[in-house]
Amino acid sequence: MHEISIVRRIIDMAEGEARQVGSSSIRLIRLKVGEFRGVAVEALEFGFAVLKKGTLADGARLEVELVQLRLDCHECGQARTGIGDLSFICPGCGGRMNLSTGRELELDYLEID
Ligand SMILES: [Zn+2]
Repeated sequence: MHEISIVRRIIDMAEGEARQVGSSSIRLIRLKVGEFRGVAVEALEFGFAVLKKGTLADGARLEVELVQLRLDCHECGQARTGIGDLSFICPGCGGRMNLSTGRELELDYLEID
């Protein structure tokens, strides 16, 4: 279950940041997760509830912001959003589309005491 390893890494990063500013308590962790990652938000939240115990994030809340997938065609400029019909072929010109957003997996914001 890769959500668990994601959560572990996020908590490590958050603890690192908190230690750098000499804090011992994290209040809020906000994540940006792209649709293309195929991450289950409930699994992230569950993993967080389990793994935060005994860390600096013990009392922290987790917020997950989902970033919609967006494909852009560099040939004709057409854009598509949403993961529904995931094809990298442009419906307008048949060219190849590039993934502009949707691959994010990052610590977006931290609130530290
Ligand atoms: Zn096109």
